[in-house]
Amino acid sequence: MLLAFLAACAKVPITGRRQLNLLPESEMMGMSLTEYQGFLKEHPPLPATDPRVEMVRKIGGRLAKAATDYLNENGAGDRVAGFNWEFNVVDDPTVNAWCMPGGKVVVYTGLLPVTKDEASLALVMGHEIAHAIARHGNERMSQAMAAQGAGMTLQVLASEKPSTASNLFLQAFGIGSQLGLLAYGRKQESEADKMGLVFMAMGGYDPRVAPAFWQRMSAQGGAKPPEILSTHPSDERRIHDLEAFMPEALKYYKPR
Ligand SMILES: [Zn+2]
Repeated sequence: MLLAFLAACAKVPITGRRQLNLLPESEMMGMSLTEYQGFLKEHPPLPATDPRVEMVRKIGGRLAKAATDYLNENGAGDRVAGFNWEFNVVDDPTVNAWCMPGGKVVVYTGLLPVTKDEASLALVMGHEIAHAIARHGNERMSQAMAAQGAGMTLQVLASEKPSTASNLFLQAFGIGSQLGLLAYGRKQESEADKMGLVFMAMGGYDPRVAPAFWQRMSAQGGAKPPEILSTHPSDERRIHDLEAFMPEALKYYKPR
């Protein structure tokens, strides 16, 4: 028991927060692949020749490389072990983007009029990649599984109640417009903001675009805020925290 607990207890890179994830990452990645392929079947991605896809893949390649190098150099390479990065764009007016475990990233075209420039899109993608690297979905799933009953494993749930398991997963990752509301908590959002700033800065994008971007997002409003428009932390608090963290993020900034 104790050994299992120690193994499940880990430190989040960059912030150093201790976390407890009860679900094996291998199971999360297996489920991720199934859900990702199912999503792309229902939402056919734009072709590789589309300029929006080219931009998302260019940014994604830089961010993934920067994050992977950083994690490997800092003894945290296990965070991206087995990741097979993929970056897709779906033609959907929702202002959203997400990253599943294993490095499966989807950007919705509805996000692009809000990001406007490449650096702001890198900011959002860095934030979503940070959620995956910090294993926030696993934390959310671990909590939800605990509520399902002691000793319940993901494999048992997936075989006995596949739709419940699938809904929990989609909810934990903010996929689907109604479910996004319930996705990440305030601490996780703030952690992904910080890590995302570092990843974008290491990828060659100026993190100082962040406050203006979040002001544009805040002006979006909307009845059904998706994951990136999460109600907590409040926009003002979020911008304040981002500005406080900016000097740290700028240490990693290498302009291209
Ligand atoms: Zn988020």
